[in-house]
Amino acid sequence: MFDRRIEVKTPDQIVAMRAAGLVVAEALEATRRAVRPGVSTADLDAVAEATIRGLGAIPSVVGYGDPPFPASICASVNDEVVHGIPGARTLVEGDVVSIDCGAIVDGWHGDAAITVPVGAIRPEVQRLLEITEAALWQGLAAAIVGQRVGDISHAVESSVRGSGTYGIVEDYTGHGIGTALHMDPDVPNTGRARRGARLRAGMALAVEPMVTLGLRHTLLAPDEWTVVTADGTWAAHFEHTVALTDDGPWVLTAPDGGRARLDALGVPCGAPA
Ligand code: MG
Repeated sequence: MFDRRIEVKTPDQIVAMRAAGLVVAEALEATRRAVRPGVSTADLDAVAEATIRGLGAIPSVVGYGDPPFPASICASVNDEVVHGIPGARTLVEGDVVSIDCGAIVDGWHGDAAITVPVGAIRPEVQRLLEITEAALWQGLAAAIVGQRVGDISHAVESSVRGSGTYGIVEDYTGHGIGTALHMDPDVPNTGRARRGARLRAGMALAVEPMVTLGLRHTLLAPDEWTVVTADGTWAAHFEHTVALTDDGPWVLTAPDGGRARLDALGVPCGAPA
């Protein structure tokens, strides 16, 4: 199966996307360092926006969609899964906050997310963060030329299911990325191996498992953006943008290109040496 709707980048264009990926990495790191009890999600948004613009890039989520998203990051707390709107809410000890950050450099997009503990958190929530990030890396490690999108989905799902009883959100998915933030193909977090579009060198994908302590179902809040778990259980969300190369996955939003985590999984990294 050859899917002409999927944007295929040249090697030079992937290098251009890496610049956007590194901006996202730096903005997320600055924002992560700012997380502490007493900080508001609007404060985190300000840190991210200053970092992105200070590096000469443009935040990609501001103005996105309808109603237009009003901030530079999504900040989703506890039972909020994704797309939380930063505001006056103040973080308290024991919370977790998902920070989803996108940036544009020379027309190319990067997109990544981390879920950050606020001070000390409950052990079951800490475990949720760990198994969600582990599932992300299993998905990234499956982003291999010649495989299929379903192999990534299956790797994410298998990783979560092998870690315990959790809800894997199906209402939202990863996605293609490049000259736009959200492109073909969808990259679901559940699915069957050897199904879906064939992975080719030059494709770029955002892989982003969303996992809950309860069920998979979500609801949209009255603000028309914030996605919450239907059962009120807490959620975690981790995301990276990965480029497919003939040498292996190149995680464009990881400072080391993903080399350390991929090495640990026995998968060659496509980042330039
Ligand atoms: Mg995304």
